[in-house]
Amino acid sequence: MSDKKITCSFCGKAESMATGRMVITEHGVAICRRCVDICSQILSEADDRKDPVKNQQKRHIDALNVPAPAKIKEVLDQYVVGQDNTKKALAVAVYNHYKRLKCLHQDDSDVKLEKSNVLLIGPTGSGKTLIAKTLAELLDVPFCIADATTLTEAGYVGEDVENIILRLVQAADFDIEKAQLGIIYVDEIDKIARKNDNVSITRDVSGEGVQQALLKILEGTVANVPPKGGRKHPEQEYLRVDTTNILFICGGAFVGLDKIVQRRVGRRVLGFGKESEQQQNVELDANRALAMTEPEDLVRFGLIPEFVGRLPVLTTLEPLTKDALMQILTEPKNAVTRQFAKLMDMEGVKLTFRKDALEAIAEKAAAKGTGARGLRSQLEKLMLEIMFRIPSEKNVAECVITKETVDGKEPELHYK
Ligand code: ADP
Repeated sequence: MSDKKITCSFCGKAESMATGRMVITEHGVAICRRCVDICSQILSEADDRKDPVKNQQKRHIDALNVPAPAKIKEVLDQYVVGQDNTKKALAVAVYNHYKRLKCLHQDDSDVKLEKSNVLLIGPTGSGKTLIAKTLAELLDVPFCIADATTLTEAGYVGEDVENIILRLVQAADFDIEKAQLGIIYVDEIDKIARKNDNVSITRDVSGEGVQQALLKILEGTVANVPPKGGRKHPEQEYLRVDTTNILFICGGAFVGLDKIVQRRVGRRVLGFGKESEQQQNVELDANRALAMTEPEDLVRFGLIPEFVGRLPVLTTLEPLTKDALMQILTEPKNAVTRQFAKLMDMEGVKLTFRKDALEAIAEKAAAKGTGARGLRSQLEKLMLEIMFRIPSEKNVAECVITKETVDGKEPELHYK
């Protein structure tokens, strides 16, 4: 090119703020940044006209920001105490899931990456739902929670499996393409195991039929979802939702599964002794056994093999110890004691929890056997009287919660 001022061969303008830099200058031909942008918009509009749904979904996928597994785990660590193995397994599973989606739209290679839904096995209140929810928030994808016990096979009284999908569509503000990239947490999945004992069953609330129905949406199907929920009927118009790329995380406590694993690995369960130490040994063994769960154990528990096959990522959560419960009270970003401290701070009062108070709260929750679930309600009860009084009290500088407060005494109030 000569020394002459280069002009864009398309709009004819010389390089300026309005045109942006010249992007290509070859063989006497040049194109400015603005014209490149216009061309790219024209091309993308043409693509959209060819396949509007696919391209809209591609845009949603392109917009997804999927951090590396280590980064995902780092964020989970800020909200979820312990459960390291599960956090790691899920960080990898979720990373691969969304990489797979990006890959689907980008390359034509013959290696087809399959979807890896997840199964979380762990006691009530150990963080299963919390992990799934935190992941969805982190990735900014639609999320919903479904309870497997409310589901029934089509034709029976209860909820249709499609209503789960409707909940995800609602979470995505009825943007179906966006919902198709979401995460669904299905709780109490162990409750739909086939029953082997001869309990009289009048309807299939918890049997193979529900597993079959769920299996279809787990595998990937175009589900006909009634837009207003409820039961399906023939005259209704349906939303068509493709579940192929929805990530399903299923969770359950699987009570009794440890015995099945122990029987398989040939270890004897310790007899129920009187001493608490022996009891503790039994529990330890149960946790170790659960961590060794294989798909065949789940089949023996009552899940059908095809269903187990659709949940290839399997990970177990441990019961929370007293120390973990104490950490949960204070450490996570939105820990419940922090939330109360913030409320009190708005009244100009410093809220302090003594260590012995935290210990007493954790002990009470551990005794209930509902994991961290009981912590919040226990604190709500404990703080009720204080939250009632403080706003009308003058000159309170600090409110101290001690073990005695947990046992029903008044908190210590320090005045200005
Ligand atoms: P589940 O295992 O039954 O799904 P959840 O995840 O619903 O248990 O836990 C109930 C509540 O207990 C959560 O909202 C959270 O506040 C708290 N919680 C449970 N496990 C943990 C954990 N590991 N770390 C932090 N908080 C937890």
